[in-house]
Amino acid sequence: MIKKFIKNKYVNDHYRVGIISGGYGGLTAALNLNASRFCVTLFDQKKKFNWLPDIHELVSGMKRECDLQFSLEGRLLQLGHTFCNKSVTSIDPDCKQLVTEQAKNLSV
Ligand SMILES: Cc1cc2nc3c(=O)[nH]c(=O)nc-3n(C[C@H](O)[C@H](O)[C@H](O)COP(=O)(O)OP(=O)(O)OC[C@H]3O[C@@H](n4cnc5c(N)ncnc54)[C@H](O)[C@@H]3O)c2cc1C
Repeated sequence: MIKKFIKNKYVNDHYRVGIISGGYGGLTAALNLNASRFCVTLFDQKKKFNWLPDIHELVSGMKRECDLQFSLEGRLLQLGHTFCNKSVTSIDPDCKQLVTEQAKNLSV
């Protein structure tokens, strides 16, 4: 059985949105969608957001790895959204469905 996350357009009168990526683009989209109107699930295979512009300070020893990262789950929670730590393998825009690698593995 393949798990499909985006089945219905609305959840409790909230427009359902799936964002694939917890990078700058995906996180910016999540920040601009208010949880009072949108039911947002953000998917990323990584657990943490990395602040890349300051990565040279890691190399120079000015900052530690934890100074340049934050938990995607924690940030999404603050926004009232949901984080799903999975890689998306396919999307079907017509059916408004997406499939994750984890779900595929479960079907084996
Ligand atoms: C060392 C370094 C320094 C940089 N410094 C600067 C700077 O100073 N200023 C600047 O403007 N830009 C800088 N950049 C460039 C900037 O980081 C990128 O332009 C930016 O990250 C692109 O954002 P994005 O959201 O498009 O993609 P990304 O930030 O790459 O995010 C993509 C996310 O999607 C996730 N993802 C991918 N495929 C899937 C999938 N199938 N399922 C689930 N999740 C998936 C990835 O895990 C990733 O978290 C730097 C880049 C590097 C590497």
